Amino acid sequence: MKKNGFVAPIITAAAAVTALIIIMITVSGNESGEKVADNNQTTTAEQTQSQETESTTTTIEEEAGSNPKNKKAAEELEKKAEKKVYLTFDDGPSANTDAVLDVLKKYDIKATFFDIEKEDEAEKAALKRCYDEGHTIAIHTMSHDYDEVYASLDNWIADVEGQQKYLEEVTGVKTFYYRFPGGSSNTIAAKRGTNIEDCIKWLNKNGFTYYDWNIDNEDSTGVKFTPSQLADNVLDYMSDEGDYMILLHDTNAKGTTVESLPKIIETLQNKGFTFCQITDNSEYFQHKKYDQVGD
Ligand SMILES: [Zn+2]
Repeated sequence: MKKNGFVAPIITAAAAVTALIIIMITVSGNESGEKVADNNQTTTAEQTQSQETESTTTTIEEEAGSNPKNKKAAEELEKKAEKKVYLTFDDGPSANTDAVLDVLKKYDIKATFFDIEKEDEAEKAALKRCYDEGHTIAIHTMSHDYDEVYASLDNWIADVEGQQKYLEEVTGVKTFYYRFPGGSSNTIAAKRGTNIEDCIKWLNKNGFTYYDWNIDNEDSTGVKFTPSQLADNVLDYMSDEGDYMILLHDTNAKGTTVESLPKIIETLQNKGFTFCQITDNSEYFQHKKYDQVGD
């Protein structure tokens, strides 16, 4: 399913062309990696293919390339919301991504996924599903190996750009939303020879926006919290006012995080919070700001 940008419009096509679709998907699945690179330039061809169903073609063309896919609706929701809360999932896709998406779907809310590079086809399909279901796709890192990522500024740039490319290949969308491995306030980078301030300058110069968080559910601390405790790690640190960006993880080991979501969502909805996703209009949740580092 590497040619996801190609498959998406087809899935919505009329039943009459189902047989043809199956053949096409089979063929695309057998094609070599170099075809994936071509895929970025085949938008016109894709749109031609989907013209068999006029109604869906219009929707797809309107939203082509936007991140999130439902950009306008996401921005509207964000604009109207009085108290905003952003669920952000780091380190996916994973074997739990589908379960996360199922919960989000049940409550009809959107989130933001800061992903890493995965070669597993099922996980890649889950990543594509994130985009298709209207969530925001964002860059985290290719390897998440601090020694590698922060070995030098050049290494770090290659990591950001490489992950941007990977996400585009899988989801069909180019994203400029970024989260530092360890957050922008990390001391890991400096210890390995990379000045985080240089990274921030590079991000600003190249059109990227980075996001940290102001609430952490502590699912990466190594402590074995129950789902209810994980929810409390979030809820106990929030007041009834203000805007919050919550750090959560989407990894194979974080089934309890998935189970904690209903309590978090229901409690915050009852308090009048609106669940938003990152858009170009989102406020910055940044531990270390550009204006603190000069130019
Ligand atoms: Zn991470």
